[in-house]
Amino acid sequence: MRVLLKLSGEFLAGASSKGFDESILNQITDEIIEIHQAGVELAIVIGGGNLFRGIGSKSVGIDQPTGDNIGMLATIQNALMLSGVIRNKGYKSRVFSIIQMPYVCESYNPSLAKLALGKGNICFFAGGVGNPYFTTDTAGVLRAIETECQVLLKGTNVAGVYNKDPREFADAKLYKCLSYGQALQENLRIMDATAFALAQENQKKIVVFDITQKGNLRKAVLEQSIGTVVTD
Ligand code: UDP
Repeated sequence: MRVLLKLSGEFLAGASSKGFDESILNQITDEIIEIHQAGVELAIVIGGGNLFRGIGSKSVGIDQPTGDNIGMLATIQNALMLSGVIRNKGYKSRVFSIIQMPYVCESYNPSLAKLALGKGNICFFAGGVGNPYFTTDTAGVLRAIETECQVLLKGTNVAGVYNKDPREFADAKLYKCLSYGQALQENLRIMDATAFALAQENQKKIVVFDITQKGNLRKAVLEQSIGTVVTD
């Protein structure tokens, strides 16, 4: 089985919401290694929100494309960090970036990436889609399609997709499964519209689950017992 895990950058920051929380780095890499040891080919797209998001451009007085470039570079830093921790634990991991920086990491191309996954490397696809005005959710869907991952796992900080915001409404209902059409009709924002449209068009199954609870990655991938499945 080959899966793509999409993690937000903010997750790496833990409670402080900026930078890196060492215990989170340790916990998530242990969980990633556990999945890898079970024989799953694992591709990972990580955001950059713990370092910078393009949306913050205006407040610091830069234009959005510049801010987005900073955000894309942040995703490369996050990928290098996680990959480095994994390698330090004795496992094979490679970082492929769509923004070429050959001294720092490998350049992304889908066939090379598939080869690397097949050879047992835990692979990070960094740099987003390589263009301002996009997000790493879109990059996640795009790379999952290109590298033929069966499923895209979106790790969040809630249990899955609800009919309304569970942090605001105590009676919010968690969906076990959901169609793309229903998600659109009910305006359930699973990911940004571009990412979601791409997933729907290419019938890429999405599982939304709570990554903050230890053990959940294994449950989502190996037991498929948690989260919300979005498919047709
Ligand atoms: N970004 C971009 N193009 C991409 C991916 C990301 O311009 O293809 C920029 C954008 O500014 C975004 C930032 O990088 O805010 C970090 O990515 P994202 O917000 O998706 O990270 P996350 O919220 O998942 O941590």
